[in-house]
Amino acid sequence: MAEVLVVVEATAAGVKKVTLELLTLARTLGSPSAVVLGGTGAAAAMTDKLAEYGAEKIYAAEGDEIDGHLVAPKATVLAALVRDVQPAAVLLGSTQEGKEIAARLAVKLDNGLLTDVLDLSTDGVATQTAFAGQTLVKSKVTRGLPLVTLRPNSVTPTPAPAASAPAVTSLDIALGDADRLAKVTERVAEQKGSRPELTEASIVVSGGRGVGNADNFKLVEEIADLLGAAVGASRAAVDSGFYPHQFQVGQTGKTVSPQLYVALGISGAIQHRAGMQTSKTIVAVNKDAEAPIFELTDFGVVGDLFKVVPQAAEEIRKRK
Ligand SMILES: Cc1cc2nc3c(=O)[nH]c(=O)nc-3n(C[C@H](O)[C@H](O)[C@H](O)COP(=O)(O)OP(=O)(O)OC[C@H]3O[C@@H](n4cnc5c(N)ncnc54)[C@H](O)[C@@H]3O)c2cc1C
Repeated sequence: MAEVLVVVEATAAGVKKVTLELLTLARTLGSPSAVVLGGTGAAAAMTDKLAEYGAEKIYAAEGDEIDGHLVAPKATVLAALVRDVQPAAVLLGSTQEGKEIAARLAVKLDNGLLTDVLDLSTDGVATQTAFAGQTLVKSKVTRGLPLVTLRPNSVTPTPAPAASAPAVTSLDIALGDADRLAKVTERVAEQKGSRPELTEASIVVSGGRGVGNADNFKLVEEIADLLGAAVGASRAAVDSGFYPHQFQVGQTGKTVSPQLYVALGISGAIQHRAGMQTSKTIVAVNKDAEAPIFELTDFGVVGDLFKVVPQAAEEIRKRK
């Protein structure tokens, strides 16, 4: 079976969930090979997790040359690996880094590229959305191999383990001056609470302008914590200073695709929908029965969120 390269993404906490989703998908397309591009010892730290999710092989390019220079060396290593291995496909997460690496790789290989893909079939046909999520599009790379970035939580929202025993192959690929043009000078760990990362969360609770002020966002956080959810916000809420920008969902914010999306005091403007409408189940609370968000919802409550949300929280508490 032909190899399918999965480019691994990780944080200090370990392999990111999107990588496990990609490995699960890769098993349907061929034989999954994980590609670790990181600092010294990165592959050893991740081998158990990658094996648990079915990586048949692990390729590792490690060290300061890779880790200390943003994405350029990673694309160079991948291009050499693709030429050598001739995989059936290359899969990356549709994250900021994944998309940047994929774009550089496409140029180096003179290969087509599909980004923000929601699904990929065995014949290489990808499903994407267009026009701010209004239309589903089927596309296929027609030049080169399927080079695809997949949106977290889309293809296989629950990654499935499949134990394997991968051998680790170290890659020693020569880098050039062009790969060293941008150097990492400092890394500062983001201050994170215990909530899941927004783009990877299975449940997202977002607040909009209807939440009223920054202090009231505690209500959004409270119900999010009861559900084990990440917190999001509309642009109006962010622009009004209710919640930090990194939590904005929508066309100019993050794209999320959780199992459950709860919109509180959000009207459902097209730019907000663009970032959340592929969520599997959508629930909204809005006091305006005509709010466009209700066109999308599986379950909508017309009511004042300051009455509805505390009652919902109480019910969830009783069931815990
Ligand atoms: C180029 C461009 C890019 C954009 N990108 C984004 C983006 O990435 N993300 C994004 O979100 N927006 C984006 N926008 C803005 C978007 O057009 C909307 O203005 C924004 O989404 C509105 O946010 P909102 O729904 O929170 O506010 P509003 O539209 O003001 O809606 C507030 C809602 O809260 C309801 N409400 C009020 N009080 C209560 C209450 N007590 N209980 C229940 N409901 C209540 C109201 O009925 C109303 O429906 C963009 C706009 C442009 C032009």
